[in-house]
Amino acid sequence: LGRAVTVWELAVRRAELTPAAPALLDEADRRVSFSGLVTRAERVAAGLHALGVRPATTVAWQLPTRIGSVVLSLALARLGAVQTPVIPGYRDREVAHALGATDARFLVTPGVWQGHDYAAMAERTARTLPRPPVTLTVGDGLPDADPAPLPPPPAEGDAVRWIYWTSGTSAAPKGVLHTDRSLIAGGSCLAHALAPRPDDVGSIAFPYAHVGGVDYLVMLLLYGFPALLVERFTLPGVLDAYRRHRVTIAGGSTAFYALFLAEQRKQPGRRLLPALRLLCGGGAALPPELYYEVTRELGCALTHGYGMTEAPMITMGSPTDSDENLATTEGRPPSAMEIRVVDGEIRLRGEAVCAGYLDPRQTAEAFDADGFLRTGDLGYLTPTGHLVLTGRRKDVIIRKGENISAREIEELLYAHPAIHDAAVIGLPDPERGERVCAVLEQPPGAPALTLTEVTGFLRAAGLARHKLPEQLEITDALPRNATLGKVLKGELRQRYG
Ligand code: ATP
Ligand code: MG
Repeated sequence: LGRAVTVWELAVRRAELTPAAPALLDEADRRVSFSGLVTRAERVAAGLHALGVRPATTVAWQLPTRIGSVVLSLALARLGAVQTPVIPGYRDREVAHALGATDARFLVTPGVWQGHDYAAMAERTARTLPRPPVTLTVGDGLPDADPAPLPPPPAEGDAVRWIYWTSGTSAAPKGVLHTDRSLIAGGSCLAHALAPRPDDVGSIAFPYAHVGGVDYLVMLLLYGFPALLVERFTLPGVLDAYRRHRVTIAGGSTAFYALFLAEQRKQPGRRLLPALRLLCGGGAALPPELYYEVTRELGCALTHGYGMTEAPMITMGSPTDSDENLATTEGRPPSAMEIRVVDGEIRLRGEAVCAGYLDPRQTAEAFDADGFLRTGDLGYLTPTGHLVLTGRRKDVIIRKGENISAREIEELLYAHPAIHDAAVIGLPDPERGERVCAVLEQPPGAPALTLTEVTGFLRAAGLARHKLPEQLEITDALPRNATLGKVLKGELRQRYG
């Protein structure tokens, strides 16, 4: 199985090995086995082929996390098409950019989903493009045909077949080129860190169109266990589905852990999810207190990791590591990932790193002479080889020539009981170069904090005087991107600068 070089080959081998084992489950209790998944994907591939999709045709899809979306992505992998998954949260401008930049020939939409008309948006967007794609709406079923006339599946794993989009936290989203090989490597790293068992039940409760989606699928194929797909993460409904399907591995990003913890606190003394053995995720910082609260109160392990669209799994905590390492580091890199720290910046090389960016200028800028990708993230490796992240290169505030890490202040603020979440930004300032501004999201009903109270709290926590915020803003909800709920600092800088 480990020798498979394409995602399709991996799926076929898994279906041969454990055909009847469940692969995907959903909240409506639909389920599909590994052989069912492969059979359906072949029929959909034939349906797409009949509509004109050929090997190397670029197909964009903007679909929610549901069984049909996984089938569609596998069907495209079967054909050897180039797919560009677009998260459902994207609207006209972002969709137009993704379609135009990839010259997509098809756009697959769910029709109306969660009150938004994706098919209408697709038609509108197509009109703005010089070479508009054909829109396929798959609300009532996927294209379907007899697979007999299909050309053979792709044989090599090094062609660019996946174009993913970064979150656009620092600038406009970048198109990231992945190959079957890089995605299989990423999924193997994830699987290696989590060491799933055949009786585990995983869950995908984040957008499947995120690079973590196929990464997760690869893990299911490698280890032969199923995952529950969650189309819309709404409480408490999703908890019933987790209990019914006895989900043992759950997670996504830090926000998920906090949500589960809040639910657990509503029923102290009774385990919220008795079958849950592991919460895992990454993509955003994990405050150490949250690690201890979650593991203590939810009674499960928590492994947190560091990844990016360009390299979906860079490091991950291992369930066998010490609490201290799990709470304060991002874990260790798998053997297939080389990490170098140059001038405080993390650089990466290895099979699980992307092939580059859609824009060759971005590729030339991002990779160094030795082929290492400059991540833009700051951090260091401890003597035991654990990675500690300290911030993002673009998230350093330079006040009167002193470098201040936004993240250091955010972590301290997070410990304040009347602060739900916090974002610290640098704003242009004629005297200081930049001034430190803290934007707070307070829990509903909490009295608004004042700047004096906040700086008093930070000083008591040991923060140096020159790092104290000079401006305080309170908001009901920090602006977040649609992928993982990351705070959009660019928007905050515009709003308060
Ligand atoms: P863009 O590249 O468009 O600015 P982005 O980097 O936020 O957006 P993603 O690829 O979705 O887009 O996110 C990867 C980034 O998320 C990493 O480079 C890192 O800055 C941050 N990140 C990932 N994991 C962690 C983590 N465990 N702790 C803190 N930050 C993390
Ligand atoms: Mg990035």
